[in-house]
Amino acid sequence: MRSFTYTTGVKLKGNKIYLPSLGWMKFYNSRPIPDGFKMKSVTVRKKADGFYVSIRIEDTSIPTFPTITSEEINTAVGLDMGLGKLVYCSDGSVIDNPRFATNQKTKRLQRIRQRRVSRKKKRSNNRRKAQQKLSVFQLKIANYREARNWQIALKIVKKADVIVVEDLNISGMMKRCKPKYDSESSRFLPNGQSAKRALSRLIADASWYTLISKIEYVAAKSGKIVLKIDPRKTSQTCIVCGHIDAASRDGEKFVCTNCGHVDDANLQEARNIKAKAINQYGLLLKRIKKVRQDLPKPRQLTLFETPTLELIRGKRRQHRAHKGERDVPGNLGIQLNLFNQDNNIPIRDTL
Ligand SMILES: [Zn+2]
Repeated sequence: MRSFTYTTGVKLKGNKIYLPSLGWMKFYNSRPIPDGFKMKSVTVRKKADGFYVSIRIEDTSIPTFPTITSEEINTAVGLDMGLGKLVYCSDGSVIDNPRFATNQKTKRLQRIRQRRVSRKKKRSNNRRKAQQKLSVFQLKIANYREARNWQIALKIVKKADVIVVEDLNISGMMKRCKPKYDSESSRFLPNGQSAKRALSRLIADASWYTLISKIEYVAAKSGKIVLKIDPRKTSQTCIVCGHIDAASRDGEKFVCTNCGHVDDANLQEARNIKAKAINQYGLLLKRIKKVRQDLPKPRQLTLFETPTLELIRGKRRQHRAHKGERDVPGNLGIQLNLFNQDNNIPIRDTL
């Protein structure tokens, strides 16, 4: 049993708590119960670094959180969950993926701690102690992630009246590959699971599901709406012309095969998610200028612009002026050569 719940009989007094059939005991009172609230239930949980008690409170005199009507919806934001960055927002902002459990440093520490456990004799005290250290370490990671997720949820909910997220099938994404059995040699053949494992771990570390549920919680509290949409084809649709083609997407880059619209693949997906929700739920967003700004002009490829002599001279003059060495003649031929060399590099490497 890792936890148990009381519904009655719990008393609080300063830094002491009375738990029925256990008696009075000291605890760290992290925050006081606000006036007018009644204790509904008390849950005691065992975690790696000790026992925690959480108290559910209620005040029936406070009205439930207001929800906005469809006329009050002015803004919407679409979110695309990713691994490179954790969240791509349709307004062009991105939120970093901290990768608490899968960065090099923690992975190494985790490996060391795990090894210390496995090298100790089974059922020994030393093994138990090593296991305890490992558990505390893992709990800490989980706590960091939890705290960070709340911060992100708050930041996102502040962005708009309606938050649109993908309806992800995360357990499906993390599902293990089917074992391949070869009846001739009666052996199992490689099925690609070892390659998938790292991805599954990354997805688990990103914790999209808990982030989305936290966004829902914060949104409900601030009277905002969270909509879920089917994410199919959102990464392949062009936001400008609506053309759907899987070939449009090239890694991080999106180049429409129909109209040539160039965009960041993830940000454009976030915009598609927003657009899909607007269509699906018939949202009438107010066309404030600020709202329209979240559809920036496609990034222009300046790579193929041939530099004119004047352009380079201007730049060089600026540069020299900056460095304080005016009127120093440079070799324009070398500069132009460098420019040409740059242009020969394939786009994928330079972008
Ligand atoms: Zn297009």
